[in-house]
Amino acid sequence: MLDGLPRLLARLPLNHRKVPEIKSQLYRINMGYSGECNADQYLERYQFSKSTQILTNVHLRTSSGFTFEVDTLILSEKFVLIVEVKNLKGIIRFVQNPPHLRQVLETGEETILNCPYSQIETNKSNLNEWFRQQGIQLKSIGLLVLSNPNTIVKEAPPFFPIVYKKQIPHHLQKLESYETILKPSQIHEISRKILANQASFNPYPLCSYYSIDVKELRRGLLCRYCNNLLNRKNRETWLCTICGKVAEDPYNEGISDWIKLVKNTITNEECKVFLGLKDSNAARYALSKSSLIKKGKSTATFYIPGVKSGNK
Ligand SMILES: [Zn+2]
Repeated sequence: MLDGLPRLLARLPLNHRKVPEIKSQLYRINMGYSGECNADQYLERYQFSKSTQILTNVHLRTSSGFTFEVDTLILSEKFVLIVEVKNLKGIIRFVQNPPHLRQVLETGEETILNCPYSQIETNKSNLNEWFRQQGIQLKSIGLLVLSNPNTIVKEAPPFFPIVYKKQIPHHLQKLESYETILKPSQIHEISRKILANQASFNPYPLCSYYSIDVKELRRGLLCRYCNNLLNRKNRETWLCTICGKVAEDPYNEGISDWIKLVKNTITNEECKVFLGLKDSNAARYALSKSSLIKKGKSTATFYIPGVKSGNK
């Protein structure tokens, strides 16, 4: 999703109703990503038992069609642990009723964030429900990891484990004293089930994921530096009048936006309209320059992503 979301933002008008949601989703993924990467090192260094499975970016769907995602899930003989890593600066205060997180930065700037405690609690119930639907009796537990060692925590919920990333090994060691709940063969079977269900999750094309109509997207060829509309100089060369950069052969990027956002195939007509090209010849040229392959004959021709054979 990391490469699709910036493209969706580029194609949405600035005042579109979905922009704040998508921006915050992108921010969350980026923050989680940088935080996760360095918490992963601590997980890697920990000597887990051989049967332990660590799954990352787990996306699952309950039978009611509801999807949820877990950053890191550790399945061991002693525990099923949901690990959420947060990269937060400044002072964070856990506020109840309704649960939210109040962050105060060094500059004094205050932000309200989703409460990671409720997020983990919700994920625990979702995962437990998913296990139940799979005929597995298991209760997961949670751990909130702060990847920034300078985050100051105030009014943390009692009995809820929050650690700095350096303390991950110590926390895991404590969990090792729990009673055994899973056999190695069961861990293997559960992670196989999770991975099999995981595969069916695909947020693309993003417009249907976010319920956005293709008509709401900005059309035309966009500058890769500033996302403004490009002006045509000639068939090969397009110019951005805002940042002054010349975009050579910008067709592929425009068509790739369509594939990520709208659907996995594109016709000549769709290409012409979406990229704002002057006629079907221009669209045919754009499609021939793209990495898509041609299928079908005459008016039924369409293009899909794939490997070009190179001999056409
Ligand atoms: Zn530009």
